[in-house]
Amino acid sequence: MGDEWDAVVVGAGLAGLACARDLHALGLRVRVLEAGDRVGGRMRTDHVEGCVVDRGFQVFNTSYPQVRRRVPLGRLRLRPFTPGFLIQDGERRLRFADPTRAPRQAFGALTGPLAGPRDLAALAALTGFDALAPAALVRRTPETSTRRLLAAAGFREEFVQRFFRPFLSGVFLEDDLATSSRFFHLVWRSMVRGTLCLPAAGVGAVPELLATGLPPGTIVRESPVTELTEDGVVVGGEHTVPARAVVVAADAVTAARLLPGLTVPAYRTVTTYYHLAPASPLREPTLVTDVRRRFTNSVVLSELHHSYAPRGYALVATSVLGDGGPARESALRTALAECYGTDTAGWDLLTARSVPGALPAMEPPLTLSRRTRVGPGRYVCGDHRATGSVQGALASGARAAREVAADLA
Ligand SMILES: Cc1cc2nc3c(=O)[nH]c(=O)nc-3n(C[C@H](O)[C@H](O)[C@H](O)COP(=O)(O)OP(=O)(O)OC[C@H]3O[C@@H](n4cnc5c(N)ncnc54)[C@H](O)[C@@H]3O)c2cc1C
Repeated sequence: MGDEWDAVVVGAGLAGLACARDLHALGLRVRVLEAGDRVGGRMRTDHVEGCVVDRGFQVFNTSYPQVRRRVPLGRLRLRPFTPGFLIQDGERRLRFADPTRAPRQAFGALTGPLAGPRDLAALAALTGFDALAPAALVRRTPETSTRRLLAAAGFREEFVQRFFRPFLSGVFLEDDLATSSRFFHLVWRSMVRGTLCLPAAGVGAVPELLATGLPPGTIVRESPVTELTEDGVVVGGEHTVPARAVVVAADAVTAARLLPGLTVPAYRTVTTYYHLAPASPLREPTLVTDVRRRFTNSVVLSELHHSYAPRGYALVATSVLGDGGPARESALRTALAECYGTDTAGWDLLTARSVPGALPAMEPPLTLSRRTRVGPGRYVCGDHRATGSVQGALASGARAAREVAADLA
């Protein structure tokens, strides 16, 4: 038995880090126990054969309120993706530029081949609302599925299938557009208001930076919590760490194991294939979506930061829904050859990252922020208690800290 902590936080993903930082700022004695050898959870970055490899392709959005509040962006050496995205539609490749930055280009490129006047009017109205409406209003919009919202907004089904569905499958990690319309609004809003980018050292630089805000020694790595006791937690089935409050900031499945009775939401799985190519197949850092949905998105990461791949190589990240496998990789290579108009036979598969539980399912009715207190001295936070996003994880951690502090006071 060691000293008693005011709070022990289980897990050093974004939610756990946000919670620990807020508790520390309030003067409470905090210890963070992390099962892995590094902080970051789903946002950690590895180095593989000289390449920067995130735990599945993801983008970092600077407009999230929690990011603005907590993350000193200047220290991340961020580079932006080209605003908007490219749509691979059969043999054609169309560009959707960000309508808030280049309205003419955005809509002009879609006119004719993809969008009719009705779609363009609906897109302008939707984008205008999400760009200008306060978040509180967006959160109060009537809730339905994204599919129904888009139909009600006046988009033709064909446009939804070719424009929204391929793009949003990479955001929701499901391709039926079954995700909550409110979450869609929050995503579209953050897209048109913020900048999609990545740090030079990979997305894992964000949690690493948050961790530096805690006193040295606060985070203890390679310390899997195996049990919660009446007065603390057990690490590795062996020693007890006593605490007045325990905040479980682990993934939903582990949280439910540690806190029996907690409901585990359905979750989404994604696999990202990282290929090394001898030459860049696209000379810009832009998301490419596929109308045929053979992949959710593909991007030449080394066009964003040259440091992502060894000199003379290009790093291409391509994500598919669900688990990957050798058969899928071979089909994907064919799709990428068609999409980039190049021979992909010589590309090396560097690694594939499959992430079960990458996001919680967010079908309506979706509670955008849930209480974290689940019993006396016991709390749970993480994206599964809010929205499956950087914003959701950080906000849930912040809420846990508020509830712990109020109870301990
Ligand atoms: C491939 C992918 C793409 C994504 N794309 C985006 C995107 O573009 N935009 C966006 O906003 N969000 C995106 N997300 C979602 C975002 O990354 C997550 O919502 C967020 O990182 C979740 O943080 P968390 O702290 O809730 O959970 P986690 O990151 O899962 O953290 C949980 C931590 O708890 C630790 N842990 C687990 N069990 C134990 C235990 N027994 N003892 C101690 N520690 C334990 C884990 O090791 C981990 O560090 C993406 C996620 C993935 C995987």
